[in-house]
Amino acid sequence: MYDDQNIFARILRGELPCYKLYEDAVCLAFLDIFPVNPGHLLVIPKQKAVSLSELDAATAGHLLMTAQKLADSLRVSGVRCEGVNFWLSDGAEAGQEVPHVHLHVIPRFKGDGFGWKVGPNNRKALPAGELEALASAICRAQGGVPCS
Ligand code: AMP
Repeated sequence: MYDDQNIFARILRGELPCYKLYEDAVCLAFLDIFPVNPGHLLVIPKQKAVSLSELDAATAGHLLMTAQKLADSLRVSGVRCEGVNFWLSDGAEAGQEVPHVHLHVIPRFKGDGFGWKVGPNNRKALPAGELEALASAICRAQGGVPCS
């Protein structure tokens, strides 16, 4: 259920301000006001959607193409940007705080102090049998797409 009062819906309606970077018929991009690093920006669809899976392929692709162009702009803008993270949290358990799809574009530089936290149960090598079972389950879930 989409919450029409979420912050990004209100920005899209012009009820809240934003530092706009780009807009077209499909998406809006603006600065994140609590940035990981200065220049951190967000690309959001104009369609009311909480999850990426609600978007059609053209809209989802358009978000990534827009993020690609803005990352290229970041790199030549004078903003400190030695690398970029493209990051999309899909679902509260994945860290999504605002329930409207948003793709983060985060400028990164050596020593910026940001990073993923790896817990004791993360990043453990899995045995081949478990990897095969996982690959089979995900391949089957694609609905008949053959996996080699
Ligand atoms: P997430 O945690 O992936 O849902 O990301 C939400 C992002 O929205 C965070 O990085 C916030 O800093 C950012 N944010 C929250 N409120 C605003 C706002 N009014 N304008 C711009 N960015 C915002």
